Amino acid sequence: MENACSRCGRAGVVYVRRYSGERLCRACFLETFERRVYRTITRYDMLREDDTIAVALSGGKDSIALLKVLAKIERRFPRARLVAVTVDEGISGYREEALEYARRVCEELGVEQVLVSFSELYGLTMDEAVRDGYLDELGLGPCTVCGVMRRRAIELGAMKAGATVIATAHTLDDIVQTYLMNLLRGDLNHQPLGLRRESEGVLPRVSPFRLTPQREVILYAVYTGIPMQEVECPYGHLSQRALIRSFLTEFEERFPGSLYAALMAIEGRLISGLQEDRKVGEGGGRCGVCGSPTFREVCRSCELISQIAGIRASRLRRSAAIVGDLMAGARSA
Ligand code: SF4
Ligand code: ZN
Repeated sequence: MENACSRCGRAGVVYVRRYSGERLCRACFLETFERRVYRTITRYDMLREDDTIAVALSGGKDSIALLKVLAKIERRFPRARLVAVTVDEGISGYREEALEYARRVCEELGVEQVLVSFSELYGLTMDEAVRDGYLDELGLGPCTVCGVMRRRAIELGAMKAGATVIATAHTLDDIVQTYLMNLLRGDLNHQPLGLRRESEGVLPRVSPFRLTPQREVILYAVYTGIPMQEVECPYGHLSQRALIRSFLTEFEERFPGSLYAALMAIEGRLISGLQEDRKVGEGGGRCGVCGSPTFREVCRSCELISQIAGIRASRLRRSAAIVGDLMAGARSA
């Protein structure tokens, strides 16, 4: 029967999983979705029974879906605790709506929320970074700067909440996009993304959606009543990721299963490379400023934050010199 769910046999197929051939009703879709997240967590040993898990909650549908699924899973582990970390990047007209969704879902689930903002941490909102020419001086696109600063902000918020691990809502699509972007930048030195790696003084980051395609997260959001943000980020279209995303989405549409195959192929190499590195590089490879593991002397976050501080300081010096000249001119007049 065309309209029968291939798991329970009931009528009302809402989703055809093209890469596996399953035809699923709403209830079976939701059940298999949540089960896959649970299996991803156990397969990669992402979480411990007594973890304090900081969920990076932007308020977008992906992060709300993650918080909801983890809240369900967490009920089975009484010693685990869930907190949400929300970052306000300072993008007016865009972030307000999602920040409100994030606040509401925490209230609904009874999850503590820690709020951090770019303006409080860096003295600069994303809008100011774009408007005041910081990005031009750095020669970087808004998403590069935003991504690096947000990563650090989430870490700081998670530490404040006493977290032992950070969970992000990166999907299978996001992870493959990042691998491809790194490759196109000529950077083959990366490590597997979203897998738990313990390193002293650094919070591990895990991505429980790393085997879940983006379109299934969207469907999960639709069927569980998660609100969808209407406004898009005004800076998003400028990103390299937007280009890669549209290519990979179309490719997966035409050849279902490609994203998963790519992930497995890339990580087969990366993970064996990582084990080699561990043998060779004991004790090395840490940022000279914050101690995070990195292949550089100073990690990308610390480098960017110090560059922004440098630009601000040189601008202040310039304005002080102009004021000094004006005053000297006024005195001699
Ligand atoms: Fe930041 Fe880019 Fe995302 Fe906008 S689209 S919030 S600038 S990373
Ligand atoms: Zn650093």
